[in-house]
Amino acid sequence: MSAADVTGPRSWNDEEARLRRGICEVGRMCYDKGLIDAAAGNISARQADGTILITPAGAMKGCMAPEHISHMDADGRLLGNSQRASTETGMHLTVYRERPDVRAVLHCHPPHAVALTIAGVDLQTPVIPEIVVTIGGIPTANYATPGTEELPDSIRDLVRCSDSLMLKMHGSLTLGSNLLDAFKKLDMLEHMAKILWMAHAIGHVQPLSPDAVKKLLDSRSELGFTGTNTLENRCGL
Ligand SMILES: [Zn+2]
Repeated sequence: MSAADVTGPRSWNDEEARLRRGICEVGRMCYDKGLIDAAAGNISARQADGTILITPAGAMKGCMAPEHISHMDADGRLLGNSQRASTETGMHLTVYRERPDVRAVLHCHPPHAVALTIAGVDLQTPVIPEIVVTIGGIPTANYATPGTEELPDSIRDLVRCSDSLMLKMHGSLTLGSNLLDAFKKLDMLEHMAKILWMAHAIGHVQPLSPDAVKKLLDSRSELGFTGTNTLENRCGL
């Protein structure tokens, strides 16, 4: 990459500089935790002015620099001298159009969670009380060819009712009010998948009873859980 291919720090305001650094930091955290490999995954953040910062196509997410991040308007037109943006830009733009509250979008390939979707395990089956009481479960979008318009179409309905979802046989998609919030949801998703993976490896997995699920959902407001819950709103069910 030549110096002419990158955007210069002198043109960034405080927010843009912070978000560019944040995207690099989250990329490194995802890579270090084994949630992506090589150049997989993509990360974006929406600025207050509605423009979007997103990882460039083919970048190694574990070792990006702030000046490598692409900058685009809300319709995906590159700004300044940005590099070609992620091949999954359409999926990120769809999320931002459907969810005005979302400021960060994170797509990774968490291995346990992806493996479970390949094996046909439903991540919305109520098994772990902490997941049921907080987010409910993780809906899975129908399989779509990566890098094509099929992908934005496959997630459109689910992102309206869930901040965390799986792309069948492919990866995760987590949405947040900021980059760390989106990473937190990804971390939680893969941890849940590891537990489920182990349980399935050991033997028969017994879901929580409908009565146990009802008690958990009834306790949400008392425990202070006010966020979206996919069992309450029947997301993807
Ligand atoms: Zn992917």
